[in-house]
Amino acid sequence: MASGRPLIGITCSHDTQTPTERYYLYMNYVHAVVEAGGTPVLLPAVADETAARGMLEHISGLLLSGGDDLDPYFFHEEPRPELGEIHPDRDAFELFLAREALAGGMPVLGICRGCQVLCVAGGGTLYQDINSQVPGALKHQQKAPGWHPTHDVRLEAPSRLAGIMGTLELRVNSFHHQAIREAGTDFRVVARAADGIVEAIEGHNKIAGFALGIQWHPERMWSHNREFLKIFAALVKEAVVYGR
Ligand code: MN
Repeated sequence: MASGRPLIGITCSHDTQTPTERYYLYMNYVHAVVEAGGTPVLLPAVADETAARGMLEHISGLLLSGGDDLDPYFFHEEPRPELGEIHPDRDAFELFLAREALAGGMPVLGICRGCQVLCVAGGGTLYQDINSQVPGALKHQQKAPGWHPTHDVRLEAPSRLAGIMGTLELRVNSFHHQAIREAGTDFRVVARAADGIVEAIEGHNKIAGFALGIQWHPERMWSHNREFLKIFAALVKEAVVYGR
């Protein structure tokens, strides 16, 4: 029996410590998708592209979750000393999913690392480490509860994100030491912090579908401020249309 709820695929984090290698995902992502009206399913990284494409055939929307750093190899840089832990298998899988979704018009939402994956999938580049590469930057790795907003962001108008949130000014949480450097030709910047750090991007030019990258963590905020659930509701709404 059809539920009418679109299947939203969520990518997982990797713990590659042997012998206890595992996929894992913070529960907030799953709860946000359910609360927004979607049916969540987890997507474990696989190297086999046919298997990865098989996952995409079953979902109507893609959620690229947060996590560790991207290997700068994927945006044609050598690693800086400040680069954190990387998981190249996850990078390759998520970049493949992102490129397939973007090319096929599947709705995709990237959060934190996922925002950066979208950017790189579209040909953009990252700062490997904000503090050593952006003089005068704010604190973007907050030491505060996850739901607590610690810096402002200013949204561009008109933009899809401004339409979703219904405002041009937000105060958001911040748990990132990497950031978008150049959004590339397929994405445009639609939100920045006061220090200029990119806080959201969305697809334009040849990207026809819903493609939104959020640098903060709305999945950790909506329990205290339901306004942030609107971002997940937008993905679910687009996935319903895409799945028809
Ligand atoms: Mn931030």
